[in-house]
Amino acid sequence: MILISSCLVGHPVRYDGRDQLNSRLKQLVEDGKAMPVCPELMGGLQVPREPAEIRGGDGEAVWQGQARVVTRSGQDVTAQFKEGALQTLAMCRQYQVTLVILKEYSPSCGTQMIYNGQFDSTKQPGLGVTSALLRRNGIQVINEKDPLLEGHGLD
Ligand code: SF4
Repeated sequence: MILISSCLVGHPVRYDGRDQLNSRLKQLVEDGKAMPVCPELMGGLQVPREPAEIRGGDGEAVWQGQARVVTRSGQDVTAQFKEGALQTLAMCRQYQVTLVILKEYSPSCGTQMIYNGQFDSTKQPGLGVTSALLRRNGIQVINEKDPLLEGHGLD
């Protein structure tokens, strides 16, 4: 089974109530090859919600206790982000997930680049909180632009 960020398969679950539809990935769900997951909703956050970024590092630093996830107004939502990541890991184990495809740049789902924690639209290398936990647990995590999606039996 494959897990895919819910926003990528057309669910309007982003902080601003919009989606990030990728029709090809949505087709994987419709074909029964993949399931959607939104870590931030599973962590107890709502739609819409304030945008959040990681301050002090990336998702790996969050798990090391060196960084926090904060909203634009300064609310600490680290606990909700960690809970969503843990729930996503539990889903991976329950459904024997072999590949997770997550939305790049998200503070939960980013796999290579995330925003820098200053809310100034600047990106920097780093993992989201969920991506970091899944990788720590040996699960393959890629983003929606990964060349791996061109082939490898995903069509
Ligand atoms: S990027 Fe991840 S956490 Fe954000 S809306 Fe999409 S699935 Fe949910």
